[in-house]
Amino acid sequence: MKIESHLAQIGSIKEPVTGAISFPVYQATAFRHPKLGQSTGFDYARTKSPTRAVLEEAAAQLEAGDAAFACSSGMAALQTIFALFSQGDHLIVSLDLYGGTYRLLERIMSRFGVTASYVDTNDIDAMAALWTPSTKAVLIETPTNPLMMITDIERVAAWAKAKGLLTIVDNTLLTPFFQRPIELGADIIIHSATKYLGGHNDVLAGLIVTKGKELSDEMAFLHNSIGAVLGPQDSWLLMRGMKTLALRMERHQHNATTIANYLLEHPAVEDVYYPALPHHPGHDIQNKQSSGNTGIFSFRLKDARYIEPILRHIKLIAFAESLGGVESLMTYPAVQTHADIPLEIRQAIGVDDRLLRFSVGIEHADDLIADLAQALAAAKNEIEEVQ
Ligand code: PLP
Repeated sequence: MKIESHLAQIGSIKEPVTGAISFPVYQATAFRHPKLGQSTGFDYARTKSPTRAVLEEAAAQLEAGDAAFACSSGMAALQTIFALFSQGDHLIVSLDLYGGTYRLLERIMSRFGVTASYVDTNDIDAMAALWTPSTKAVLIETPTNPLMMITDIERVAAWAKAKGLLTIVDNTLLTPFFQRPIELGADIIIHSATKYLGGHNDVLAGLIVTKGKELSDEMAFLHNSIGAVLGPQDSWLLMRGMKTLALRMERHQHNATTIANYLLEHPAVEDVYYPALPHHPGHDIQNKQSSGNTGIFSFRLKDARYIEPILRHIKLIAFAESLGGVESLMTYPAVQTHADIPLEIRQAIGVDDRLLRFSVGIEHADDLIADLAQALAAAKNEIEEVQ
């Protein structure tokens, strides 16, 4: 079966009692034991819960993994993964990284003696130079958020495997509909399922997918022991969102490509960072390892004075701090999502005061372009009036 069919059918054939097409929300934390030493497979909801279990089974299958673990947020998923590591362990991590992941590593994991080095994960020599006998894993985002840098997953996973390291991929931006890193050699996938998987800006969730029995057993232990698990209502909402993932991702891709090309030609725009554009440095690798492009890109204005009026004048597009939903959102990474990354690192990678990130929704592309055009024109007028 193709992925579109798997997605549409999540949970639909799992309810044995009534035959309900939509899998029920089992709002229960405790489950009766038939007798001493027996279990229905469900004992206590932190360990395993019926609605969450259907979601987890679907996630494992979609990502070509052996097990999946639904968490209360993407950060909870990352924290659970990082609990694999112990004092003295070292990680090699993508340089252009979601700010919250950086904050978790630098302000919390560092307190437990787990250290991280940040590097362009396409530069194997640079990664090799950072490797020490304490290095335990490579963590990559591809595409990165917000600069959409692409890492060759297969190449990094092969290098990591040869060194005995785990490869962890944050697949939030492409989802298994467009990219399946485990098939390219990764060991662990993490998702902020709050984004494209949920898809409607209404559920906060995270997912971990693991490959291999030993790793899956260890993750099950950590997931249960830490307890940052997803509740039944949110599991249901996430599954409901995932059923339309294929349709949404196609439309996000179409809209983002159309609008990225529009902005590339706009006189106020210096550059657009979107791997679907042929001039993007990661274009060829992206085409090799993914079957499509995400719905989010960043663009740099020629003049920082455009930023404030654009964010004030957009009407259909909301100035808000997330991505991956059906509604279009514009974010200013330097002061929002990436504010926790030190200025010198942000400037070195290009997350500066002229960069905007645009999560393109599934509205009509013409309406989104009209909104951008009027906001850019209004910003230009205001700048010229001041001069
Ligand atoms: N990973 C990426 C790439 C993200 O963009 C985010 C959030 O924006 C996270 C992880 C964290 O996920 P959450 O906000 O669901 O905790």
